[in-house]
Amino acid sequence: LLQLYAPLNFLGSIYSSIRNALVDLEHMFGLLEETVEVADPARPVPIAARLHDAPPVSVAFRDVHFGYRRDREILHGISFSAAPGTLIAIVGPTGAGKSTISRLLFRFYDVWSGHVMIDGHDVRDYRQADLRAAIGVVPQDTVLFNDTIGYNIGYGRLDATQEDIERAASLAQIHDFIVSLPEGYHTRVGERGLKLSGGEKQRVAIARTILKDPRLLILDEATSALDTHTEREIQSALRAVSAERTTVVIAHRLSTVVDADEILVLASGRVQERGRHGDLVAAGGLYAGMWAAQDAATGPDQDVPDELPA
Ligand code: ATP
Repeated sequence: LLQLYAPLNFLGSIYSSIRNALVDLEHMFGLLEETVEVADPARPVPIAARLHDAPPVSVAFRDVHFGYRRDREILHGISFSAAPGTLIAIVGPTGAGKSTISRLLFRFYDVWSGHVMIDGHDVRDYRQADLRAAIGVVPQDTVLFNDTIGYNIGYGRLDATQEDIERAASLAQIHDFIVSLPEGYHTRVGERGLKLSGGEKQRVAIARTILKDPRLLILDEATSALDTHTEREIQSALRAVSAERTTVVIAHRLSTVVDADEILVLASGRVQERGRHGDLVAAGGLYAGMWAAQDAATGPDQDVPDELPA
């Protein structure tokens, strides 16, 4: 029986990493019907997936040029680096290239020139499934399956126990809500079940990601404004998942970025400014203008304006 167990366990873990990768892709790209043209290397470099097994990753872009179509370059030489365990925030107007940066981290596309590095290796050195297993995404809009809420959270990791699921849900601040439902974790959600609010769905996504325990977290903030209470709950849930973990936040609300180790202000595919919140405000440039505009209009919980102030 033991002889059978090892290969079965091995198959199970392959299945689990493929499934995790699919969940993330599904989230992030909304089941795009695009062909993925990236190929695995002949001799892939191994990479541990879970923070439980290895320290958080380092991330770097080195002079990255990229476009979706040959005739239109979108990123014009992007460079930055994030040390293990730090939080880097990308802000900027719509169409600046923020989501494109996260897609390249996932190696959904290959760069035209330059390097996207994770843990000191070009992402092209890794097997795609391994790379994607090491990255967790909390997307703008979470896909829920027509199944129980427990299943929807447990999807983050195949071998999770009910106890693991409940611990993740508690950290994500959704456990109390779940147990208040008549059928608790067995409540069906999705199209044919209970409809969850945007904030609840996002906390399900955070719980999934806590279970997945990836070494790199990409957080794609929702563009839609959330009420202040929901916003606060989500912020603290996010702190639970991003603490100690290298995190890249695509930020739409400046309130999220004030504590970032580095903020990149992206506009028209170029990093126009970079630094910490206080330094950027003091510098009186683009970021300071965005901050002043947002703060003056509605307070820091509101969305970043789509147009940079003149
Ligand atoms: P937003 O804040 O609106 O999400 P963003 O800064 O994330 O914007 P990206 O989604 O990275 O911007 O898009 C950058 C540019 O690349 C835009 O001009 C967009 O039209 C273009 N683009 C994005 N995805 C594709 C695609 N799949 N094919 C072709 N062009 C694309």
